[in-house]
Amino acid sequence: MYLPDFDYIAATSVAEASRLLASLGPEAKILAGGTDVLPMMKQETIAPKTLVSITRLDGLKAISLEEGRGVVIGALCTHNEVMKSSLLQEKYLSVCETAHRMANNQIRNIGTIGGNITNAVPSADFPPILIALGATVTLQSNSGSRSVLLEDFFTGPRQSVIRQDEILTEIVIPVNGFNGSTYHKFGLRRSGALAVVGVAVAVVMEGDLCKDVRIALGAVAPTPIRAREAEALLRGKEINDALLEEAGKLAAAASKPISDMRGSAEYRRDMVRVFTRRCLRKAIDQGHV
Ligand SMILES: Cc1cc2nc3c(=O)[nH]c(=O)nc-3n(C[C@H](O)[C@H](O)[C@H](O)COP(=O)(O)OP(=O)(O)OC[C@H]3O[C@@H](n4cnc5c(N)ncnc54)[C@H](O)[C@@H]3O)c2cc1C
Repeated sequence: MYLPDFDYIAATSVAEASRLLASLGPEAKILAGGTDVLPMMKQETIAPKTLVSITRLDGLKAISLEEGRGVVIGALCTHNEVMKSSLLQEKYLSVCETAHRMANNQIRNIGTIGGNITNAVPSADFPPILIALGATVTLQSNSGSRSVLLEDFFTGPRQSVIRQDEILTEIVIPVNGFNGSTYHKFGLRRSGALAVVGVAVAVVMEGDLCKDVRIALGAVAPTPIRAREAEALLRGKEINDALLEEAGKLAAAASKPISDMRGSAEYRRDMVRVFTRRCLRKAIDQGHV
C-alpha cells in the first residue's frame, strides 16, 4: 500500500493552520502524529489533497497546572508524554494509565492526544477517562476560540462538532474534587489492541459516602456515553457491593453496542456490567485513602 500524492504544508502558527483549512476547504486535513490519517490514506478511505501539518506548533506540546483552570494538556502531547508527565501522575494517574494501555511504544511515541479525540472513533481510549473527569476541549480558529465539554464533542462515529477551520489546541481537566478515577479496557490482545469495551469512572468519596460519581463508556455506542442512571443510583449513598452490582447492570442497560468480529453486542453489554463494577470498586478504594 502506497500513499497517494498530496500537498504538504507545515503551519507555523494556529492562525496559519486555521487560514489554510478555511481557504482549502474539506480537501485539506490536519496532520498531527499521522497514525490514523496516513493509514487511512494508504487504504484509500480518505484522499485529502493537502495535509496541513501542525507538528511544529510547540505551544501545543505542554502539560501544565493553570490557576483557576486545572490541568491543561496541549493537543500535540504524545501518548508517551501523557504517560510520563509527573504532573498527571500526581493529579490524575488514571490518565497516564490509560495512555500506557494504548497501542504500542512506536505509536505512543507519535500519536497525539488531540488526534485521538478529533478522530472521534468510538473505541478511542482517551475520551472515556477524560469525560469521566469532566474535561473540556478548546477549539481555536481565526474567528475565535470556544470551549466544549468533551462529552458534547462527539456526534457520531468519526463525527464531532469541530468545524473545518478549527484546531483542537488543548484539553482541560478542571479542578473538580474527584479523589478516585480509573479506566479499564478490554482488548483482544494485551497490547496494541483497540478497545472492545472501555469503562471509566471518577468519584468523590467522603469516607463511605459517594458524594459524586461519573461513569463513561467507550466502544459500546456510536459515541462515548455517560451511564447517568448508574451514576444517579450511587450519588449521595453509602456504597456496598449490592449497589455496585446494580450500577453495573444499569450501565450495561445504557450501552448500545454492535456485534462485529471483535465481540457480540450481548458479550459487550455483559462486559460493561463487569467492568463498571470493577472500575467503581477501584476508584472508590482510591477515594477512601
Ligand atoms: C497500530 C495502531 C494501534 C493503535 N492503538 C490504539 C489504541 O490502543 N487506542 C486508541 O485509542 N487508538 C489507537 N490507535 C489510533 C491512533 O494511534 C490514535 O487515535 C492517535 O492518538 C491519533 O493521533 P495522531 O496524532 O496520530 O492523529 P492523526 O492521524 O494525525 O490525525 C487523526 C485525525 O484527527 C485530526 N486532527 C489531529 N490533530 C488535530 C487537532 N489538534 N485539531 C484538529 N484536528 C486534528 C486529523 O486531521 C485526522 O482527521 C492505534 C493506531 C495504530 C496505527
